[in-house]
Amino acid sequence: MKFNTKTIHGGQEHDKAYGAVMPPIYQTSTYAQSTPGGHKGFEYSRTHNPTRSALEKSFASLENGNYGLAFASGLAAIDAVLKLLRPGDEVISTNDLYGGSYRLFSQIYANFGIKFHFIGMKNAENIETFVTKNTKLIWVETPTNPMLNIIDIKKAASIAKKHQILLGVDNTFATPYLQQPLELGADIVMHSATKYLGGHSDVIMGALVVKNKELADRLYFIQNSSGAVCGPQDSFLLLRGIKTLHVRMERHCVNGRAVAEYLENHPKVEKVYWPGFKHHTNHEVAKSQMKDFGGMISFTTKGNSYEKAKKIVENLKIFTLAESLGGVESLSGHPASMTHASIPKEEREKTGIVDSLIRLSVGIEDKDDLIEDLRQAIG
Ligand SMILES: *Cc1c(COP(=O)(O)O)cnc(C)c1O
Repeated sequence: MKFNTKTIHGGQEHDKAYGAVMPPIYQTSTYAQSTPGGHKGFEYSRTHNPTRSALEKSFASLENGNYGLAFASGLAAIDAVLKLLRPGDEVISTNDLYGGSYRLFSQIYANFGIKFHFIGMKNAENIETFVTKNTKLIWVETPTNPMLNIIDIKKAASIAKKHQILLGVDNTFATPYLQQPLELGADIVMHSATKYLGGHSDVIMGALVVKNKELADRLYFIQNSSGAVCGPQDSFLLLRGIKTLHVRMERHCVNGRAVAEYLENHPKVEKVYWPGFKHHTNHEVAKSQMKDFGGMISFTTKGNSYEKAKKIVENLKIFTLAESLGGVESLSGHPASMTHASIPKEEREKTGIVDSLIRLSVGIEDKDDLIEDLRQAIG
């Protein structure tokens, strides 16, 4: 089955009771048993729920994996991965990780005796320098937020294989439409399904997909034991969102390219970060591991003024100033005052998050309106 068919049919079967075309919302916590242990595969909804199971099969199908798991949020999904580890284990991750993941690693799991190395991964060979006998997990995000840095997944996978370390990839920004990490050698793919997979800014959810049965069993055990599962209504919304993932992504890419090119030629714009540009670091890697370049763009304006950047995001009318990304509507963000405000200025600026940096999640509106909005806001 091709990807554009999988978004609609992948892992799905027609409802056995009435032939409903959409999976029914099984809003139930428990299931009747005819005799103790006599049930139809469902006992209690923390463990299994038919709507969630349909979604988990869809996740697995989209990423070319064998097993999918749905969680209450993206961070709950990452949390489940970290529970594979024990005190003394080490994790190698990127130095421009999503802020929430960084907080989970450095402020929760570091307290449980897990050691984290946050390193530059633009040159993926750098990862090997930090491998010790205790390294159990390499955690990669590509493209990264908000600098759109590209990490070579195949290279990271070969280092992971060589040292028998698990490689996990946060595929939130790319989506399986653009990039399929399991095909490139990763062991675990993770999504904040809140973003592009859901696509309509109306649900918080997380996903994991793996190929290996033993790894899947360990993760299902953690999912059931810790209990950070999503409900059937949210599962339904995700299933509904996924059905248009391919058409949405196609338009996000077209609009993203148009906006990136407009900004690149704007006299007041200093620098545009979008992996589709030849001058973007690791553009060749992006080209080889992604089908297109997506709708996430960051840019800075000349003079690097904090006030000016705030004015721009305030003046934008179609781009809504808000956290999050990946929905049908365009959003803007000012990392220095919003998502990355808690990081000291000097630290922030080392990774490129300067005062004038603005991040855009380019939606699927008419691209001419988006460009006009940027024109009037930048002035
Ligand atoms: C939003 C996000 C997360 C966290 O997901 P939630 O659904 O908000 O818990 C993790 N990684 C990336 C790249 C994200 O954008």
